[in-house]
Amino acid sequence: MSEQEKLIARPLKGSCLCGSVSITIEQAHREVDVCHCSMCQTWGGSMYAGVEAESFSIKGEEHITAYPSSDWAERAFCSRCGSHLWYKFVPTGNRTFLAGMFDLPQDIAIKQQIFIDEKPHWYDLAQDSPKKTGAEIIAEAEAAGFTFD
Ligand SMILES: [Zn+2]
Ligand SMILES: [Zn+2]
Repeated sequence: MSEQEKLIARPLKGSCLCGSVSITIEQAHREVDVCHCSMCQTWGGSMYAGVEAESFSIKGEEHITAYPSSDWAERAFCSRCGSHLWYKFVPTGNRTFLAGMFDLPQDIAIKQQIFIDEKPHWYDLAQDSPKKTGAEIIAEAEAAGFTFD
């Protein structure tokens, strides 16, 4: 797949439950990132599913709370209705926005499932997709120069 084919050609528009915050992703990746880590479970009930954005705009910033969940990550939500909005990797500023906020195209697929070793026993995803343990994903990031101490 070329770099261009990896991006969804139309803008994606979504908003929180109460409508105070709306997000437009001009260029979203044609893939959903899934994280099964214990923090994502505590945050959202079970797995986190997000789409990576190349470029985006946000309306309703005054209603957003960005919570620093660790030294390297920020999780944001609507202060009025509590809807989750994004996960941001602070060292790069890269974010994924909640997949559930958007009307995604039919051909979108799971990119990878990370922290598969922390996935609860009571569900499995039927789709075949690459799976990485927490140690594997941390090793990948460390190889790319990031530290998590
Ligand atoms: Zn809201
Ligand atoms: Zn996670």
